[in-house]
Amino acid sequence: MQDKALITAITNQKGGVLKSTTAENLGICLARQGKKVLLVDMDPQASLTIALGWRNPDELPVKISDIMAQILQDQPVPLKEGILHHAEGVDLLPADITLSGMEVSLVNAMSRETILKQHLQNLRKEYDHILIDTSPSLGMLTINAMAAADQVIIPVQPNYLSAKGLEQLLGTISRVRRQINPKLRIEGILLTLVDARTVNAREISNLIRETYGSRIKVYDTVIPRSVKAAEISAEGKSIFLHDPKGKVAEAYTNLTEEVMQRAEKRRRHQLEQLR
Ligand code: ADP
Ligand code: MG
Repeated sequence: MQDKALITAITNQKGGVLKSTTAENLGICLARQGKKVLLVDMDPQASLTIALGWRNPDELPVKISDIMAQILQDQPVPLKEGILHHAEGVDLLPADITLSGMEVSLVNAMSRETILKQHLQNLRKEYDHILIDTSPSLGMLTINAMAAADQVIIPVQPNYLSAKGLEQLLGTISRVRRQINPKLRIEGILLTLVDARTVNAREISNLIRETYGSRIKVYDTVIPRSVKAAEISAEGKSIFLHDPKGKVAEAYTNLTEEVMQRAEKRRRHQLEQLR
């Protein structure tokens, strides 16, 4: 285990681009590789919490909003507070709809951008990877995720509108870097829901690689559109149990490999700098 978890926010203000699906399957695949993984659900819609099998998140005793409320009130939070254990080897800090109220409370709070960070700083000693799933917005909850993170992964569906939305997202990331978290980097852009048969998807994928590829990593792996993968939302299982031989399981395995290799390379580079 490395001494401190790598914290990754999975972000795009557009809904339906596989943020939650990627948090789940990347997280579980990292756990299958022997990593200690914590998933943090920062979306009031709680799709990650539900996808992992907790179907009624509002009935859970402690949610991420409770933890954030305690920090806002300067109350100490026990390290393991609210953490759930999933059968496939990942831990989860769950969300429910009350998190949307937190977005409002944060507006007038002191250190409002760094409430989540304060908690994850303590937890990062316990894990190799912390993945934060974000809501489809660039509001205060997503800013909290970016403030807490070392890096962001941006899932993008290759269509014209998504490509435009990417500019706005990159602008927000730059602003977070200037004002709150100078260390934040873009780990990579992940093309999702790729329909290999349509010319349009291919053209826009190429366009994204041409436009951004020189300054931002666009993963070689793409996540294909698949009916089987679309079925799993409320089963509580990852793609590795639902359709282990399918192309989506293979894609997430390859993505995990790319992410791990890049992290390892960066770690070695940092160690060399220290010597
Ligand atoms: P986001 O978190 O960005 O809003 P989700 O991860 O919730 O997006 O995914 C949106 C929808 O796409 C979900 O209903 C999910 O079941 C479905 N889905 C997941 N993977 C695939 C896939 N490979 N092909 C088609 N649909 C998928
Ligand atoms: Mg989601």
